[in-house]
Amino acid sequence: RVKERGKAHYQFYRSDMTSSLSNVISLETKLRKAIQKKELKLYYQPQIDLNGYTFNSFEALLRWESLSLGVVAPNDFIPLAEDTGLIISIGNWVIETACEQIKVWKALYNKDVRIAVNISPKQFQQPNFIEVIRTSIQKFKIKPSMLEIEITEGLMGNIKEAIPILRKLKELDVIISVDDFGTGYSSLSYIKQFPIDVLKIDQSFVKDVVTNAKDAAITTTIIHLGQNLGMEVIAEGVENKEQEDFLKKANCQKAQGYYYSKPLTCEAAEQFLRGF
Ligand code: C2E
Ligand code: MG
Ligand code: MG
Ligand code: MG
Repeated sequence: RVKERGKAHYQFYRSDMTSSLSNVISLETKLRKAIQKKELKLYYQPQIDLNGYTFNSFEALLRWESLSLGVVAPNDFIPLAEDTGLIISIGNWVIETACEQIKVWKALYNKDVRIAVNISPKQFQQPNFIEVIRTSIQKFKIKPSMLEIEITEGLMGNIKEAIPILRKLKELDVIISVDDFGTGYSSLSYIKQFPIDVLKIDQSFVKDVVTNAKDAAITTTIIHLGQNLGMEVIAEGVENKEQEDFLKKANCQKAQGYYYSKPLTCEAAEQFLRGF
């Protein structure tokens, strides 16, 4: 079991930061160059099937391995990437890299490994978003159902525009999941209207699921909702056996969290894969 590395964590940038404009500008310049310098990396966190401990999917999580700043976590640069539009090229790179990885692992281990990628609302709203996905799938000749697209409830603010995009995604046969489920401005009507395959229970509910009756009720309800609608349900942020026991009893299919593994470098993910 791997524990969270104790890392000094501070916020590099927030959208509402007004204090030091020059810092933000220099960070933007660094991020712009990071793409060319190949300082962006995908880490892979395993998702465990609780029914028999099988494993067939990872979530891809972005890291910026900056020479001058060290390893920068996504929450410290994705808001900046969104505000500057850099998220489009970064997001396209994430999709390509994930598709290529699916192909490489299939070739190396003859295993179909599903990879989930996080999609920012801005990226989702690009007119060529579907084309980017289609092109990557074709370029690496992967099974579309090995690619999972994680969206957040933030998108649901604009249901009318989101529905045709999601339908086209589904026509491609990729998997669609809702990340951080239950934390946004949820409306059950979008659950009905959207072609959703997976609900990801937000880690804020999982954290105290064993001790807090409300978290327990919410978690159980999301699991039932998913089940009744024929969706897969995965719990995020599982850190100990007690949480796992609760989730198993509640019939949650999958779990992801430090209890199983932290997000792994590509090399470490391959080691993990070989172990299964
Ligand atoms: P998320 O998609 O909800 O990802 C889950 C976050 O929880 C990740 O943080 C992961 O490292 C962390 N985590 C995993 N297991 C545990 C656990 O047991 N306990 C706790 N406390 N945390 C756990 P990370 O990697 O820092 O990513 C943060 C967020 O940044 C992600 O939240 C996602 O919204 C965003 N993000 C990451 N990669 C990308 C990307 O490629 N594109 C976009 N647009 N957003 C990304
Ligand atoms: Mg996610
Ligand atoms: Mg999440
Ligand atoms: Mg999140």
